[in-house]
This record gives sequence, C-alpha cells and structure tokens, in this order.
Amino acid sequence: MKVFKFGGTSIGTAERMKNLIPLIGKNDNAIVVLSAMSGTTDRLVKLSSLLYNEEKNEASSLLNQMQDQYLEVIADLYLEESIISQANDLINSHFEYLRSFTLDMFTLLEEKAVLAQGELISTALFQLLCKEKGLNSCLLPALNFMRIDENEEPDTSYIQRNISKELHAHKGYNIYITQGFICRNAFGEIYNLKRGGSDYTATLIGAAINAEEIQIWTDIDGIHNNDPRFVKNTFPIDELNFDEAAELAYFGAKILHPTCILPAKNMKIPVRLLNTLNPEAQGTIVSDQLKTNTTIKAIAGKDGIIAINIRSDRMLLAYGFLRVIFEVFERYRTPIDMITTSEVAVSLTIDNQQYLSEIISELQEFGSVAVEDNLSIVCIVGNISPENQGYAFRIFESIKDIPIRMISYGGSKNNISILVKTELKSETLNSLNKGLF
Ligand code: ASP
Ligand code: MG
Repeated sequence: MKVFKFGGTSIGTAERMKNLIPLIGKNDNAIVVLSAMSGTTDRLVKLSSLLYNEEKNEASSLLNQMQDQYLEVIADLYLEESIISQANDLINSHFEYLRSFTLDMFTLLEEKAVLAQGELISTALFQLLCKEKGLNSCLLPALNFMRIDENEEPDTSYIQRNISKELHAHKGYNIYITQGFICRNAFGEIYNLKRGGSDYTATLIGAAINAEEIQIWTDIDGIHNNDPRFVKNTFPIDELNFDEAAELAYFGAKILHPTCILPAKNMKIPVRLLNTLNPEAQGTIVSDQLKTNTTIKAIAGKDGIIAINIRSDRMLLAYGFLRVIFEVFERYRTPIDMITTSEVAVSLTIDNQQYLSEIISELQEFGSVAVEDNLSIVCIVGNISPENQGYAFRIFESIKDIPIRMISYGGSKNNISILVKTELKSETLNSLNKGLF
C-alpha cells in the first residue's frame, strides 16, 4: 500500500482537486491524506482568536466569507446535481457547527474542534469528487485511529491497532481518504499534531501500515539545495538519507514538518517529495538506499533563534555543571538546538521563548548570563563525516566576511551549523551557495 499526502495548495482550488484524480486514480491500494484547503487553517486560527476575544460580529462575518468561498468551490468542483446538493448540505452543516461557538464562552478544546474543521471539510469534499469520478474510494475518519499520548507524542501502537481495524472494517476499496493534522489526545478529545502536521499524519500512517512508499505532494519539486526565497537558481536534490532530510526539515526547509521523517526512518519506508503543479518532475527521494554519494547536499536557515551564554569560574574543572544547566531547560520543556562549551562557559540556542525569563533567572544562580536574540542558524547538510576532508575550509572560506556567533561541528555526521545574526542570513546563504555548489 502507498500513502499519498496532498498539502493545502495541492487542493487549494476546485481545479487543483480535480487534477489529483488522474494522479491517484491509477492506484488500487492507497491511503490519501489531505490537509485543509490552503488558507483555511489560518482563518480558523483567526476565528478562534476572535472567539476568545468575544468579537462575535467579526467572527460571524469571517464565517460567512469562508462559507461563501466553499460554496463557490462546490459550484466549480462537481457536475452531478445530487453530489452538488450533498456537498452544499455538508458545508452548511460544518458552518452551522462553527457558528455554534459564537454563542457562549470559547475554550481550548473548542479551539481544537474548530481547527479540525478544515481537514474534515476538505476530505469530505474530495471523497464526493472521487465518487462522482467513479473511483472506488471511501473516507477513513482520522479521529478513529490517530491519537497522541499524555506527552503529546503519537501513540504508535494505538494508531497501528486502530488503523488496521478501520481498514478491515472498510475492506474492498482501492482508495482510502483521511484527514491529516487532526487526532485525539490521551483523553479522547479532538486535538491536532500542530501546524503543518499533515505530513506527520502521512508518515505515521505509512509506518503503521508498513507502506511500500510515502509520497508527500506539495507545490515545489522536492527539497531544494538552498532556500529559494533568498537564493536564486536553487535546484531540487535527487536523494537524501533520513537523517539529512530530518535535519533539513528541522532547520528550515519549509516543505516538510520537522518530526515527520522519524516514523519513516524507523520503518525504513522511502518518502518521495513531489509537486502537484509539475507531476512529471522526479522530486526528492528520502531513503536509506542512496544511489549517489554527494558530500554537501543542501543549506537551510532557521530564524527566531536566541543564544544564551552562561559563564562561571565555578565551572573550571567542575563536573555536574552542564547537568544543572540542562535541567533548567528540561523543567521548562524547552529544547536546546546548538551548544558549544569552553572550560568556563557554555553557549546554547533555543527557539522557544515561552519561558525565557524564567529560564534566565534560574540560570543566573549558576553564573553570569548573556542573551542575544534575532539570530538564525544556517546549517549545511550532507555526508560530512571526518573522512571527507576539505569542506570545513570551503565553508568558512566562503563566509569569511560574515561574523559568526557560534559553530557546531562534529555533533552529527550530517550537519554543520553556524549561528549568525538574522540580518546576515540571506548573505550567508548566498555566500555558501557560491562556495559550495
Ligand atoms: N492544515 C494544517 C495547517 O495548515 C495542517 C497541514 O496543512 O499540514 O497547519
Ligand atoms: Mg504543510
């Protein structure tokens, strides 16, 4: 079985949805994971903030606007009268449900239910389209099998058991359509896998059913060797191993959800990144069976980084110092990205500022603390094992005029990370591009 995931832009208009039919119609055993139509989740986020603030008129007019747009999509999407009327009923009932939240106080769990509507609507509309086009397809409700545990991590054994049950209960279809992003939490309430989480749904499903391949369809020809928003003439990378792809997804390649590679890596399921606007392009394949041995494959940048430096003479020849520092971050559930140490100081970076002031005040008990924000991590990804000599020189030669705040080299065979001011990110990406490709 193959898993196909189509992102919001791939189903962003009636036309684009129709274009998917020939792509998936050839398959006789596939699970199709859909995002919400592009723009929908952003607007549901907006709607939730209006509801929290009790701005009921604005909330109602946003809902009217969205509903009208969906009704327009329907008018372009289908031909058969009976399907059109089913789709209209469907949209009207989802919006009636959404309007019910304008009546009283708005809560966190209601917000999750609101955010789930985008995927529930897109999959239901798509299933009606498949039906009209004569595909042997059915809807598989993600809320029946996607679940996270108390730590908000996917409950993989639950997912595996329950998706098998669902597939078994709906035997005999060629194509199963399900919602990305949405799930239930450990208490059975509607929840989600965080923004961009549909990719994660796809790889979790792929791993749960031991799929032959997971295809992630977006609107770009795979992962590029550098960030096309800042660098001209970037090109798609043919192949990456799982670790390289995970580093790139985490450090900036917007095309993939940062944690989505892991389930595929664990089960060694190839992930293919493809473009619905250019379906002939070969895209990028992520697997553990690479055909080529390119050393440096890609460069990516991640903004919003904060560097924290802790300096203390007590650190000299002391042990246990790093542990107490790390424990502070652990208590505030704040992941550390980069770290470098000297005998009397530690520098590290985080990207989650939620508990920054608490963290700083606890760290001050151990030494003097300096904080710098507006930083970006630029990472160079590839086969950077120590045996492949020479490119540390090429990397630093190409950015010799750029002030570097931190360097991380040797932590991973696949990554060299450099910390620079965000205002210098574009220059850094471009200089590295010239020096390395
Ligand atoms: N619709 C969700 C979002 O926009 C999930 C996704 O598209 O992956 O974040
Ligand atoms: Mg996405």
